[in-house]
Amino acid sequence: MRIAILGDIHANLDALLTVVEVLQRENVDAWVQVGDIVGYGPEPSACIDVVRELGCVTCLGNHDAAVLGRLDTSYFNTVARAAVHWTAPQLRPADREFLNELQLVVQRDEFTAVHGTLHMPEKFGYVLSVVEALESFEHQQTPLCFVGHSHVPAMYLRREESPRDIHVVPHSEAEISYRGFDRLLMNVGSVGQPRDEDPRAAYGIVDTDLQIASIRRVHYDIESVQHKIREAGLPEVLANRLALGV
Ligand code: ZN
Repeated sequence: MRIAILGDIHANLDALLTVVEVLQRENVDAWVQVGDIVGYGPEPSACIDVVRELGCVTCLGNHDAAVLGRLDTSYFNTVARAAVHWTAPQLRPADREFLNELQLVVQRDEFTAVHGTLHMPEKFGYVLSVVEALESFEHQQTPLCFVGHSHVPAMYLRREESPRDIHVVPHSEAEISYRGFDRLLMNVGSVGQPRDEDPRAAYGIVDTDLQIASIRRVHYDIESVQHKIREAGLPEVLANRLALGV
């Protein structure tokens, strides 16, 4: 089975369509989306439509929860909060219904999807290092787990016989074999707002037969989405940061 994984789309339709176009040439059997379809970007409803049309296995992100009024935004920074307040009234009733039905953790036979971590999904913590990966692994029941939230891609691998000895692949673009490992925790980075100083859209693809996992990057039309962000009256910084990948 080939699984395509999208994360942190953040209402960036230009990035999303570019990633989907590339992935549609890859014989994908299943699509996964690890949360934050909306927030920051100018086209929330259109991005929700794409995720629904692809039939993505989808979990709830903190921005998705915030636009529904289900998460206290006092923990959000000013810009994130402004984006939540801009996004909420843009959503159609069907968008709200769709987001409202999303679960924090979604488990299938081969994989689990969660926005933050498996040990505290409702807290939306980050997997930023081996410390959080170890905690999350304790709750991972499937060989694969896909996460997002940090907007920085990385892969963590665990062997059954040495569960405290985590192998880290910190690269923003990588292809690895996970043969011999019983657990893979994959932060797929962000489609719509990368923060690893690489402005290209990030996404993941896993081949479970070959046991190969990849983080890939693709150029998209950043100027197009920057123009839409400014037209929408969203904070200028949200346009600027896309060109820097921060
Ligand atoms: Zn996010």
